[in-house]
Amino acid sequence: MSIEVIGLTGGIGSGKSAAANHFAALGVPVIDTDLIAHQMTAPGGAAMPAIAADFGGAVVAASGALDRGRMRELVFADASCRRRLEAVLHPLIRAESMRQLELATGPYAVLVVPLLFESPDYLALVQRSLLVDCPEDLQLERVQARSGLTADGVRAIMAAQMTRAQRLALADDVIDNGGSLAALQLQVEAKHQYYLANLAHGQ
Ligand code: ADP
Repeated sequence: MSIEVIGLTGGIGSGKSAAANHFAALGVPVIDTDLIAHQMTAPGGAAMPAIAADFGGAVVAASGALDRGRMRELVFADASCRRRLEAVLHPLIRAESMRQLELATGPYAVLVVPLLFESPDYLALVQRSLLVDCPEDLQLERVQARSGLTADGVRAIMAAQMTRAQRLALADDVIDNGGSLAALQLQVEAKHQYYLANLAHGQ
């Protein structure tokens, strides 16, 4: 792969999508593994035949999409279901990410991977990691406003993820999303200039 890849990561609600949208607005190719996962489990999605074969038709909604509620119940009742689902989805998502990266043009691309630091096979794909960081109380507030989840529901998801300090210790670059969206966008623009100046030497 000739293009340089920035791995964009951060906890739930940290502002990854907001940052990725601004990179895209600047003309940077953005590949979002969450979006790919959704597309693969939508009606007619590439993962649906394997999921139906593994878990049976009960997890397939009438539309042909993954029945997320049913799948959540299975995963909740039996942890091995999560591993089986990931075993189906992971290779497909990674292959699609690779395919999109091969097609991307420009000095660099942004690959959005929520669990980048937990995923050695994605870390191997990226030249640098870019963390969107924000205080945990803001994360909680933003996810609740977006999803309607309860504070305890959001806290449970946050507790299952790496801590803020762990992520900060691992990141090459950091965007501070503790302020306004305009402040986030200014930082994306600064990182964009930095990557343009410092990546893709010799190409
Ligand atoms: P992630 O992709 O990391 O889960 P999002 O980019 O979706 O996070 O942001 C979570 C929510 O918070 C969204 O509704 C988004 O519009 C909002 N948000 C993100 N950054 C800011 C900010 N700096 N100010 C206000 N709202 C924000």
